[in-house]
Amino acid sequence: MSRHEHPDAQAQFESALQTLRDHQHRITEPRKAILTILTREHGPFTAEELHKQMAKGGCDLVTVYRCLTAMEEINLVRRCDFGDGCYRYEFNTGEHHHHHIICRSCQAVETLDMCVADGLERMARQMGFANVTHTLEIFGVCATCQQKS
Ligand SMILES: [Zn+2]
Ligand SMILES: [Zn+2]
Ligand SMILES: [Zn+2]
Repeated sequence: MSRHEHPDAQAQFESALQTLRDHQHRITEPRKAILTILTREHGPFTAEELHKQMAKGGCDLVTVYRCLTAMEEINLVRRCDFGDGCYRYEFNTGEHHHHHIICRSCQAVETLDMCVADGLERMARQMGFANVTHTLEIFGVCATCQQKS
């Protein structure tokens, strides 16, 4: 798993709390715990994975789902769909647009720091669409898994 730590995790955490305040969202312990994980590690993580990483007895899984949904609505987190039926969430830094390469075999995730969709988005806007966004994830078999087989 590629989980490089964000060097400015603390600053991102503080600005995330400010975003919650700006949207009149309460700053609850579960929200703080989720944001702590998401600003420190890239992820993306499923609700179950986040729940496991949180302190025991912190909150139940349903609360984690609710927190993530609420934070997605205000663009604090970004939802990734790897097509396997469970959504994964990562911290939305805003300025850092990227995609993922996911191993089909072990689900390892690495980031791809480039985007080829600018032209497609421009075309969509020319067709009269507003609020144009895109999701794109790349799938393959990682080097480690290739050696195993
Ligand atoms: Zn793999
Ligand atoms: Zn990512
Ligand atoms: Zn893109």
